[in-house]
Amino acid sequence: ITYSCMAIFAMGSMAQNQKDEAQMNRFISGLMKKMTLEEKVGQLSQCSGGFATGPDNTRISRTEDISKGLIGSLLNVSGAANTRKYQEAAMKSRLQIPLLFGLDVIHGYRTGFPLPLAEAASFDLDAIERGSRCAAKEAAAAGLHWTFAPMVDISWDARWGRVMEGAGEDPYYGSLVAKARVHGLQGDDLLKENTILSCIKHFAGYGAAIAGKDYNSVDMSMGQFANFYMPPYKAGAEAGAATFMSAFNDFNNEPSTGSTFLLRELLKNQWGFKGFVVSDWGSVGEMMNHRYAKDEKEAAYKGIKAGLDMEMVSECYSKNLVSLVKEGKVSIKLMDDAVRRILEQKYKLGLFDDPFRYCDEERERTVIGSQESRKEACYVSERSIVLLKNENSVLPLSSSIKKVALIGALSKSQKDMCGAWSCAEVGKVVTLYEAMEKRGVDINYNDGYDLKTNKIVNLDQTLAAARQSDVVIVAMGEQAWESGEMRSKGDISIAAEQQRLVSELVKTGKPVVVLMMCGRPVIFNEVRRDAPAILCTWWLGSEAGNAICNVLWGDYNPSGKLPMTFPQHNGQIPLYYQYKSTGRPTALGGWCAKYIDIPTEPAYPFGYGLSYTTFNYSDVKLLPGDGKGTYTRVAVTVTNTGKYEGEEVVQLYVRDEVASITRPIKELKGFEKIKLNPGESKTVTFDVKDEQLGFYNNQMKFIVEKGDFTLMVGGNSRDLQEIKYILN
Ligand code: BGC
Repeated sequence: ITYSCMAIFAMGSMAQNQKDEAQMNRFISGLMKKMTLEEKVGQLSQCSGGFATGPDNTRISRTEDISKGLIGSLLNVSGAANTRKYQEAAMKSRLQIPLLFGLDVIHGYRTGFPLPLAEAASFDLDAIERGSRCAAKEAAAAGLHWTFAPMVDISWDARWGRVMEGAGEDPYYGSLVAKARVHGLQGDDLLKENTILSCIKHFAGYGAAIAGKDYNSVDMSMGQFANFYMPPYKAGAEAGAATFMSAFNDFNNEPSTGSTFLLRELLKNQWGFKGFVVSDWGSVGEMMNHRYAKDEKEAAYKGIKAGLDMEMVSECYSKNLVSLVKEGKVSIKLMDDAVRRILEQKYKLGLFDDPFRYCDEERERTVIGSQESRKEACYVSERSIVLLKNENSVLPLSSSIKKVALIGALSKSQKDMCGAWSCAEVGKVVTLYEAMEKRGVDINYNDGYDLKTNKIVNLDQTLAAARQSDVVIVAMGEQAWESGEMRSKGDISIAAEQQRLVSELVKTGKPVVVLMMCGRPVIFNEVRRDAPAILCTWWLGSEAGNAICNVLWGDYNPSGKLPMTFPQHNGQIPLYYQYKSTGRPTALGGWCAKYIDIPTEPAYPFGYGLSYTTFNYSDVKLLPGDGKGTYTRVAVTVTNTGKYEGEEVVQLYVRDEVASITRPIKELKGFEKIKLNPGESKTVTFDVKDEQLGFYNNQMKFIVEKGDFTLMVGGNSRDLQEIKYILN
């Protein structure tokens, strides 16, 4: 009975969806019949801040154009009152089509959350979804309908400054994070007041910019693209992301923004993506810089042909599409498809019913920066911290510790805790210093190094402070400006003087705990050698100080794992765990290709992270699947062998032993985060579906091949226990 009730209910809601869709289509068709060509082009045009840039960077107001229906969307306008002002202008237009307001809400809105890369270290999809939900809730209360997030670009190159915005190096995990973020932002119904449109970016391959230089060319085989870079984009589309953003870079000899293969064939035709594609900032016009279009008109032509629906900022569409249609070069059908896609999202947000539904000052006052948001931010921040080293169990700090030498200017910097692409209210960020003070810790503070020059200051004084204290805590690493867009680095090492300071502090004989604050994997070999305890705390946002203190004093036992490999030498980059075996392993003494002058091993492998307790893995075995041969089941027993309750991310990797194309040495295919009390054991099982053993061949066709596989389980990508499996 229950089943048939559910079936009837499911059929009922399917019928309802179809009815809703038919209603939407009717409404939009009716509206489009009334639209002039100029008004249609208006829907495809987005401008920043309500202004255009005139000669000598002068700002030209576009409010009048908005009132004429010549602009469909604004970015960089937020706040209930501000968005209301522009929406009122749009309501003066002939057809009163509402504006869509978008902003880069990348890791929280006014309440700052950890960097997306940091958050990915939680390996906690629920926490990640909650982070996005909270961002959406605050953004929606500030009049915003749309965020240009999540960035799902896979990157194997920590020199690229934008790795901070993604979920790291792994396509399987990256796909799950993409899905969690889309769900967090959009919820299950865009009509709910705490949801906004998401945007999967940057399509495609932006994270594979050659040599990690931002905006650089991307060139790779289709097999490589399909297996390693494509999955998170596809997952985003499947999760129902409303929009996609085309990338700045060229991809296999075509700017992504003008790539018919990427936008029209792959995304829209093959994946059936029904939302709309927005360009990246000015990237339609930038097709001229790519030497792919001779002028703005050709850029507009190539963009619309390729399937680029909305143009961000450059004005190639607004200046040229009308004539391109009139000259018969661009069909009205092509135009209409783009317009319809954009109007559909406005409809789904309920903007045609009430264009001001997001402009609610009262909601803005109560929701933004609320206690609930702060609690969520702290929750996610604690889970983002990764324990990299803990010799002699320096951590957690015992409650008997009275005097702490807190060293490092970063521990007082509100701005740097926010990181790049931050909307957080800087003045409300809780720094480490402030959080410690609130905890009642007796702090002996010293800058240690100068934030501008990274040079050691007052070494004698700093060492004296250390000697007078029970423990030394050093906040060090990168500043916020060092990671982000246009922040590619040729050397990702932490400043030598900062590292030397740690070595000097260790010589005092006091226990030294290092907090590595960074927006990307960084290199700090001297610190790794000398400091007994290291926590990677990234940049955690508004609750940074509280979360770090909670971890230092053991109120929360760290459970994060690195979502990107940390190199120990710049020359190792690009570095990633899923490399392929070379044909000459014996010559090299291992499967991995090598250099003669630097080590092959990373500083910390993908998936690595310790806990205050310890875990033992045993009894790996294969269990029968469903008997129908569609999956196999692997089980492992994990035991908490230490003193504290703790969480562990149990990871499953797979190797295809022989295949029709070369395959990586291992690939993550599953993980589960479990919590265990001291002495407690749990058996974790993974169902490995046949399709999880498949791959894309060089024609981008997904295939599953029978044969030998090795399944591996463990707490990181390096330390694994193996078991053989034959798929037949
Ligand atoms: C970035 C995008 C961002 C856009 C709008 C560009 O520079 O590449 O990620 O969404 O600006 O701010």
